[in-house]
Amino acid sequence: MSTTPRTAIVTGAARGIGAAVAQRLAADGHAVAVLDLDEAACAGTVEAITAAGGKAIAVGVDVSQADQVEAAVQRVADELGAPTILVNNAGIIRDNLLFKMTVDDWDAVLGVHLRGAFLMSKACQAHMTQEKFGRIVNLSSTSALGNRGQANYSAAKAGMQGFTKTLAIELGKFGVTANAIAPGFIQTDMTKATADRIGVPFDDFIAFSAKEIPVQRVGQPEDIAATTSFLTSDEAGFVSGQVIYVAGGPKD
Ligand code: NAP
Repeated sequence: MSTTPRTAIVTGAARGIGAAVAQRLAADGHAVAVLDLDEAACAGTVEAITAAGGKAIAVGVDVSQADQVEAAVQRVADELGAPTILVNNAGIIRDNLLFKMTVDDWDAVLGVHLRGAFLMSKACQAHMTQEKFGRIVNLSSTSALGNRGQANYSAAKAGMQGFTKTLAIELGKFGVTANAIAPGFIQTDMTKATADRIGVPFDDFIAFSAKEIPVQRVGQPEDIAATTSFLTSDEAGFVSGQVIYVAGGPKD
C-alpha cells in the first residue's frame, strides 16, 4: 500500500494503542506528532520512531482544554507542517454502576473522548481544508453498543460514531474523510485496569475473554494500527463515515 508522506497527529500516544498507531504511521512515511498529557511520557514512542528511521516530536497537551489544543496543533504545524492526518485516540475510563457514578466521572470521560475529539478535529480541519486533503480516525469501542458499568464511556463512544459521520458529511467536499474504529478487547493498560477493578488476574481475564471471541484471541495495539494505516492512506479516499469494528468477530 502506497501513501504520500504527510504530517500526522496521534493523541494519547505515549502508550497502548496510540503508541502503536504512531509507530505504524511513522513506518508508513509520515512525520508524527506524539501527543499525550505528559510530554515526557511521550519520549518512549518518539525514540522508537526515530530509532526506526522515522520523524516524530513529543507534545504535551490535555485534549479537553481548548487553549492547549490550539497551541499544540499550531506547534505541530510550525515544526512538522500542516497536520492532515488526525487520530483521536486519547481516552480514559471511570467505570461504575450508574447509581454510584459521580458527575465528575461522567464529565471527565465525556470531556476527554468527545470534547477532546471535537477540539482536536476543529483545530486540524483548518489545515486539512486548506490542503484539500485530510484523514480523521476516531477511536470508538464495542462499548458503544452498551456495557455494564460504563454509562459514561459507552455514551462517549456512541457519540464518537455520530460525530464521525457528521464530519464525513461536512468535510467530504474538501478531500477529508472521517472514520471510526471500534476496537473490542485490546491488550493494554486500559484493559488491565478493568481486570484490576473486578479483581481478576490480567492473564486469566485475557484467557477468559479470548474464548468468547470468534478468532479465539484478544486484540493487540498493532491490530488497530493496521486498520488506521489503511484508513489514513491515499487509497482509502472513498471510505468515509464508517465505523469499523476491529473485534475478532462481528458486532451490531
Ligand atoms: P491507555 O493505554 O490507557 O492509553 C490512553 C492514553 O491516553 C494514555 O497515554 C493517557 O495518558 C492518554 N490520555 C488520557 N487523557 C488524556 C488527555 N486529556 N489528553 C491527552 N492524552 C490523554 O488506553 P488504550 O487501551 O491504548 O486506549 C486507546 C483508545 O482506544 C481509547 O480511546 C480507548 O477508549 C480506546 N479503546 C480501547 C480498547 C481496549 O480494549 N484497550 C477498546 C476499545 C476502545 P495518561 O497515561 O497520562 O493518562
